[in-house]
Amino acid sequence: MHPFSYVTVTRAGQAIDAAGGRAQSSFVAGGTTLLDLMKLNVETPRELIDINKVPLDKIEHAPGGGLRIGAMVRNSDLAWHALVREQYPVLSEALLSGASPQLRNMATTGGNLLQKTRCYYFRDTHCACNMRQRGSGCSAIGGYNRIHAVLGTSDQCIATHPSDMCVALMALGAVIHTQRAGGERSIPIDKFYVPYGEDPSKLNVLNPGELITAVSLPAMPYARRSHYLKARDRASFEFALASAAVVLDMHGEDIHAAHVALGGVGTKPWLSPEAADALRGKKADQAAFAAAADAALRGAHGYEFNTFKIELAKRVLTAALTHAAGMKLA
Ligand code: SF4
Repeated sequence: MHPFSYVTVTRAGQAIDAAGGRAQSSFVAGGTTLLDLMKLNVETPRELIDINKVPLDKIEHAPGGGLRIGAMVRNSDLAWHALVREQYPVLSEALLSGASPQLRNMATTGGNLLQKTRCYYFRDTHCACNMRQRGSGCSAIGGYNRIHAVLGTSDQCIATHPSDMCVALMALGAVIHTQRAGGERSIPIDKFYVPYGEDPSKLNVLNPGELITAVSLPAMPYARRSHYLKARDRASFEFALASAAVVLDMHGEDIHAAHVALGGVGTKPWLSPEAADALRGKKADQAAFAAAADAALRGAHGYEFNTFKIELAKRVLTAALTHAAGMKLA
């Protein structure tokens, strides 16, 4: 492990001052990703700024309706919060499908947004990896790529985003709030992650030293009818091969509006307006769900070992929609 300095702060402004906009400074909260990667020499920050004492750990009603979730709220506290379970069950289910109870007790809302890929080659410094070292190549494209993405890939990188929580946040239209030296800003989550393009090491729109302070969820009464479904190799402590977060606004048997996001198959938590369009105005039935699944995966591209994910994701999405609609699978 490389040497680094360590400082503890108690206010958001203090954290931003300490980071000074330097790329080699990192905020540490739960540490469930960062410390692992530091031990592997994949992440080598020179300065760690511990934000665990910054009071951003509240879940509150937002002024215009909805919820405001502090960036330091632990994943387990968010998953089990009464308002989240009642009003946004898709978020609670997504959180509880991820990691293990011990990790959820440590991991924070802000940290979960910044999770790094589980690509084996990214975590092995002996392998070429454009995400870890720009221009070095991608070991996964011609290598063992069973867990990799089928949506949003480029010839530079095909890594999936590993989070479950973020897939639910995509379907719910969450907004990410940040603070930096120049002030504050609010970023819709569908604008937060960037395509890999020429530089896969750039994962999101945050600037160096910019601190996530909160995530807000819009008032969405129909989100009570929502569901997260995850397919994975084992029942616990495992990342998604394919997952789906769905929210349905139904009038009787008809779908007035839908929100659909996929996990485990995209280079970022994958919002599917195509699936939402396919569902809008349709009667909730297996034909409509299958059409939505086809629409969601239409642009998918499989690699040697992961083409199965395309069909798997369709089936997961169809099953999630069936469950959310209160129906039984045919
Ligand atoms: Fe690196 Fe991305 Fe290729 Fe994995 S898929 S080796 S993270 S460039």
